Order: sequence, then C-alpha cells, then structure tokens
Amino acid sequence: MKAISIIPGKPGSAGVTDLPEPPSSDGSILVHARLIGICGTDVEIAMDGYGSPPPGEQRLVIGHESLGEVLEAPKDSGFQPGDLVAGVVRRPDPVPCGACAAGEWDMCRNGLFIERGIKGKHGYGSERFRVDPHFAVRVDPVLGDVGVLVEPTSVLAKAWEHVERIGRRAWFDPKIALVTGAGPIGLLAALLARQRGLETHVVDRATEGPKPQLVRDLGAQYHSVPVTEIMVEPDIVIECTGVGEVAIAATRQALPGAVIALTGIARGDRAAQAHPDEMNKRLVLGNKVVFGTVNAARRHYDQAADALLKANRDWLSRLINRWLPPRDWPAALEKHPDDIKVVIEMTAG
Ligand code: BGC
Repeated sequence: MKAISIIPGKPGSAGVTDLPEPPSSDGSILVHARLIGICGTDVEIAMDGYGSPPPGEQRLVIGHESLGEVLEAPKDSGFQPGDLVAGVVRRPDPVPCGACAAGEWDMCRNGLFIERGIKGKHGYGSERFRVDPHFAVRVDPVLGDVGVLVEPTSVLAKAWEHVERIGRRAWFDPKIALVTGAGPIGLLAALLARQRGLETHVVDRATEGPKPQLVRDLGAQYHSVPVTEIMVEPDIVIECTGVGEVAIAATRQALPGAVIALTGIARGDRAAQAHPDEMNKRLVLGNKVVFGTVNAARRHYDQAADALLKANRDWLSRLINRWLPPRDWPAALEKHPDDIKVVIEMTAG
C-alpha cells in the first residue's frame, strides 16, 4: 500500500513509498485513511531533521493529524466499520514515568515517549493504518472532513484546560483573551476563546488573505500591529507564533494575574536584546504565569472533538485551503501566502 514518507532532514527525499499492510501489533482497529493534515512540525521534520524514523529504518511515514474510516474493529472495541476516527499522536514511554503511568503522556517526564509520524514510529499517512481503541478518537459523522482538525484542536484544548487550572490558583474572572498568530493553531485558539464567551483579540502580521475575515467571523477582533501596540490588556494570552519576542511582549501587555500559554516554537534561533531582570520584575509584581504546552492527553482529544462539533462547520471548512493527492504531498511543505491548513487526500489517485 501507498504511504507518504521522508528521510528526516532531507526534504528532497519526500515522496510516496510502498509499505506492507499495517502490522496487527499497531492495534486491533483497521482504518482506511481519508485525510492527513500537514503542520509546522512536518516542515521541521523535513527541513531540520526533527523527529526520527522507527529504529533501524531510514524513512518515516509522516502524518500525525489524521482522519480515517474504520474498516475492521473488534466487537468490544466500541467502534464499528464506517465510524470516523482520528488517531492519538503520542504513546506513553515504556518505563513509564509518573505522568505516563497516570495516562498523561503529554506531560512525559523522561522524553522516552513515542509520537506517530514524528518520533520513533510511522504515522498515519498510509492507505490503511491500525490503531488501538485506546488511541482512537471517535469523530462525529456530521464533522466529515473537518474531523482532520481534531488533533491540532486537541493541543489547544489542553492549553485552555491548563490556563483554566492555573487561573484557579486564586480569584480569576477572565474577560479578555489575546491570541498571537492567526495560523491554524491561532485560529483554533481563538475559536476556543469565543466558545468560552471571552472578548477575543488576534494579532497577526497579515493584512490581506483569509485570516482577518476568519477572525472577524468568530466575533473576535483582528489586529495587524505589534503586540505592544494593541490597546488591550488581556487576562489570558495564547501565544501561537513561537517567536520569543512576541511572548515577551505578551508578558508586558497582560494584566496582573494573567496566564500566558506558549504553544509554538520558531524555526531557528533569533538573537534579540533580552532584559531578563525587567521581565522577572514584571512577572513577580504582576503575579503573572507563563507556561509552555505541547501535545495532548486522551481527554483533550475528546474535548477537541466536542469543541469542533459546537463550531460553525462552514467556518471550520474554510481553514482547509489546499488539498493535495499523495504523490504531490511534498508541495505541502512549501507555504503559500494564503495557506491555513493543507491536507493530503489519501484516497486520491
Ligand atoms: C503535534 C504534537 C507533538 C508536537 C511535538 C505537534 O505538531 O501536534 O502532538 O507533540 O508536534 O512533536
């Protein structure tokens, strides 16, 4: 069967390869892949050699954002043929560490976790894949193709859950959320902010293209100015650009008691003038919290599927702006100016 794969760090190696049928050790549910979403992590795998193929192999089948249709499932699995599913990305480390033992592999302490399509195991980007019921997320059929957004949304569901848990350390009655970056992660962060009834502001460099209208259609405000120039003092910041300077500016802009979640990383190491003492003072005297967040536990996938179900379907489908057949998947690694989410249509010839 066909699979979309690459040698990490060698963008020229991206292509379609032939794979044997998925091994039963991958899980008891056999899935027919429908869509694979491509994100910044896939670009890092291709360009920077992030991630790793399975031990002893050179190529990695990519695809950690998945949507497929169940072909076979055991009777007691809770799934049946025809169900739509998305696969969970991370598997707990084998030790396991305390967090993985508690089912919170997203908080893994020793880094020995596995991530399908990223680290140590093939992803979901093959015509058929197998997954264990414990790592399969039910996608309501009314979501259809936008079900491929369950995985990226899970990362934000976790960020929001942690923001709210941290906020509860003391009195917390947030009214204003600021999202930095209007890529797929920023837009999904803004969606979850609006679902919480928050006044939502999104900052991005783009002045044209689909982003400003997508933000406005959520009932949020769009600003194409630097963070320090918006006249807004947020209680919550979801930083989605991965640019350190933007994160630092957000700590300046946020209200006392604010919670600031960093969800992204930038490629490369930008040198900037840092004023660590000034930031230290600002965080201490303002009781502000800055935290990093990556990946998602099982419950966050379920929260994500619920959040997508409550969202406007037309708005969600506008996030997917480019569809490619598997043979053209390397083109997904080049960003077009109007790109939000590019998907690979695994059923296309
Ligand atoms: C994925 C996460 C993963 C992270 C780091 C992200 O793109 O959504 O599931 O943990 O990359 O590998």
